[in-house]
Amino acid sequence: MGRTIAIANQKGGVGKTTTAINLSACLAEAGQRVLVIDIDPQGNTTSGFGLSKDGSNNTVYEVILQECNIRDAIIENVVDNLDIITSNVNLAGAEIDLIDIDNREYSLKSAITEVRDQYDYIILDCPPSLSMLTVNAMTAADTVLVPIQCEYYALEGLTQLIHTINLVKKKLNPELELEGVVFTMYDSRTNLSLQVVENVKDNLQENIYKTIIPRNIRLAEAPSHGLPINIYDSKSSGAESYRMLAAEVMGNK
Ligand code: ADP
Ligand code: MG
Repeated sequence: MGRTIAIANQKGGVGKTTTAINLSACLAEAGQRVLVIDIDPQGNTTSGFGLSKDGSNNTVYEVILQECNIRDAIIENVVDNLDIITSNVNLAGAEIDLIDIDNREYSLKSAITEVRDQYDYIILDCPPSLSMLTVNAMTAADTVLVPIQCEYYALEGLTQLIHTINLVKKKLNPELELEGVVFTMYDSRTNLSLQVVENVKDNLQENIYKTIIPRNIRLAEAPSHGLPINIYDSKSSGAESYRMLAAEVMGNK
């Protein structure tokens, strides 16, 4: 049964999508069968794998609104062992459209249930908000993985995020757990990055991954080539660090 991990943080630009793409790709490289679902209307995970956002195929929007079977939205073998369900700007309207759907918080969960046994991991890339889409992702998920950018305001919003996770756990998904926190965009040349890591460790009782993702220009370049980092530049520090994170995630299973 696939473990479903929602990558969430209501802040934008903290490395959710970069983590969704590259953690998924490194899990697949390690031989795991992976399904990535892009749940952000910006569709950056979709384009990061070199796929079109023109909506010519079924996307997560049709899946969530129960307009198609989840199997008809899966694009297979985008890279070896890795399938994806894409997203595009239409998804921005889903919040409103979902009002008419019964059990709307469970829409994604019930779709995923149909294909769960085909995968080892199902990775959900959430939008930068605590919206109905993120609630759908957390309801469908076994765990939430929170990327935290190594910057001064790192802890801001974290209390609210953990509150939302607890609320979903209480009302919608009693099994939900915090997978862990991963630091991203660590800059070893500055004291600030180190201070942020130590400050978060002091303030957060949660599981924190040993792997810290460094700031690496190759990670920022890879999406414009439509490739995950392990394929774009297999020996880069970005690729090495996401391989280590994948190994840690597999170790938690
Ligand atoms: P989010 O999905 O949380 O909004 P992204 O993953 O899109 O965040 O990252 C925001 C920006 O930072 C993107 O331009 C991305 O390429 C860049 N970025 C993310 N992680 C790194 C990193 N470790 N090193 C360098 N650039 C990064
Ligand atoms: Mg994103």
